[in-house]
Amino acid sequence: MGCSGTYDQVMDATDPLRDNGIGALDKLSRPLRDLRVSVTDRCNFRCPYCMPRELFGPDHAFLPRSELLSFEEIARLVRAFASLGVSKVRLTGGEPLLRRDLHVLVATIAATPGIEDLALTTNGSLLANQAQALSDAGLKRITVSLDSLDPERFRALADTKVPLETVLGGIAAASAAGLPVKLNTVLRRGVNDNGLLDLVDFARARGHTLRVIEYMDVGTTNGWVRDEVVPSAEVRERVHAVHPLEPIGDEGTAERWRFADGTGEMGFVSSVSKPFCATCTRARLTAVGELFTCLFATTGTDLRAVLRSGATDEELTAAVRGRWAIRDDRYSEQRGAGATDLPKPEMSYLGG
Ligand code: SF4
Repeated sequence: MGCSGTYDQVMDATDPLRDNGIGALDKLSRPLRDLRVSVTDRCNFRCPYCMPRELFGPDHAFLPRSELLSFEEIARLVRAFASLGVSKVRLTGGEPLLRRDLHVLVATIAATPGIEDLALTTNGSLLANQAQALSDAGLKRITVSLDSLDPERFRALADTKVPLETVLGGIAAASAAGLPVKLNTVLRRGVNDNGLLDLVDFARARGHTLRVIEYMDVGTTNGWVRDEVVPSAEVRERVHAVHPLEPIGDEGTAERWRFADGTGEMGFVSSVSKPFCATCTRARLTAVGELFTCLFATTGTDLRAVLRSGATDEELTAAVRGRWAIRDDRYSEQRGAGATDLPKPEMSYLGG
């Protein structure tokens, strides 16, 4: 994975003109507000649109522990990002709950000045035993990936032996621990879209927010075809026909709609049919400390080298600011213009 800048180049790239006191702005004047932190590249599922087994089989070499950022290193980086305007952190993977003692990191990040929101995305298989500890440590909310409520379809879509019941048990444990739950569903035409209304009913009955995500060409291994994308407008029509919806507005990457009967809301992430690059304020940190400024970027910036070179907090912050200042990503707006074939890192490495 090529890094786009050596330590010195990154240090010289600071641009005080763009620092208008509210933190860092990129080339399109987008502030840095959200940080997704991947804490591992490992996962116990093999969802074909993310980690197809034929590529992530028994011989796949996952990142050795020594290469992973330690909790202390992640905490230092989060402080640097927070000083530049980041207020929302989301912990991801691979499967983040595979990283031992994750509640310790949660407690540290929750106590970081400037961090107002701390969330986690999980496949839910390990959640039942960890939900209370994560909540006690300061986690604010949790998102569970759930692509089907049909037990056989669920196992096929996750290519796992873990039964659906285990994930549903994790979701119930998160609710019992007082964590607001969002359910993320990647909807694919002819694959799992016939289960849409079951997922809607499941979420409505339990007060969870279902978020339907358009299938995306992330990485290079998921065999993405546009025909399998179910545009959000079509998903909404299908739901509205049974449970009338009213628009609320956009929140980050999601379009929020409430149920007219007052039983909660659902969200739509429309990266393919309605790109939101113009308002994208998100950075991604991989488990080995590479900063990616877009889910579809082809290269990252090695912040671990900066960290482990003995840099001060000021130098670390300058490195992040410098990289953000030269950011001009807007892949989803350019999708199709030959961009799809670029050597993009895998979702399991970037943390989605
Ligand atoms: S494609 Fe890149 S720039 Fe556009 S919204 Fe997604 S992450 Fe942001």
